[in-house]
Amino acid sequence: MTTFLILYFTTFAVIKTVSRIVEDKDLGTITLRKRLNARNYTIRLSRGKVSISLPVCGSYRRALDFLEEYRPRLIKRMEESRSKLLPVVEESVWREKAEEYLPLRLENFAKMYDFHYTSVKISKSRTRWGSCSSRQTINLSFYLMLLPGHLADYVLLHELCHTVYMNHGPEFWKLLDSVTKGRAKQLRKELRSYRWG
Ligand SMILES: [Zn+2]
Repeated sequence: MTTFLILYFTTFAVIKTVSRIVEDKDLGTITLRKRLNARNYTIRLSRGKVSISLPVCGSYRRALDFLEEYRPRLIKRMEESRSKLLPVVEESVWREKAEEYLPLRLENFAKMYDFHYTSVKISKSRTRWGSCSSRQTINLSFYLMLLPGHLADYVLLHELCHTVYMNHGPEFWKLLDSVTKGRAKQLRKELRSYRWG
């Protein structure tokens, strides 16, 4: 990846935000912004621009590692938003189904494999299938309802494994393998290459 960094600091009397700009050959200009109220690393894609917010104590390196994980999906999303290939979703209908189905499915997996989470929320995120905070709050995108079942299940199990490991280290993958019959990486690959039909 050829990237170069131009950094600048917004210097207020009290530093409110510290930003860094990264030029990326696939994703264009990426803004990394430390925010006082940010608890997690969050990638946003808005009007074709990628931005990442991170906690003040977070590291840019980690933010960029996090970005790598989502790179194929971001590229795909950018292409899709250009060609408007995203399916038209009757939001109210799907959201209702998602609110019912996804928490139930998550709870079943948690019981089955003895995971513990605090709460689950259904989001409208198109760029993230799911996330898990350090407080073990799980967010799931209602677009999961449009994925083949085994891929949606993979996302649920992936987030449940984050209640144990808040990273993507070898222990995390070992755990995820143990609940996906050793297919964790294969399912990740399949999810990344998934195209809306
Ligand atoms: Zn993850």
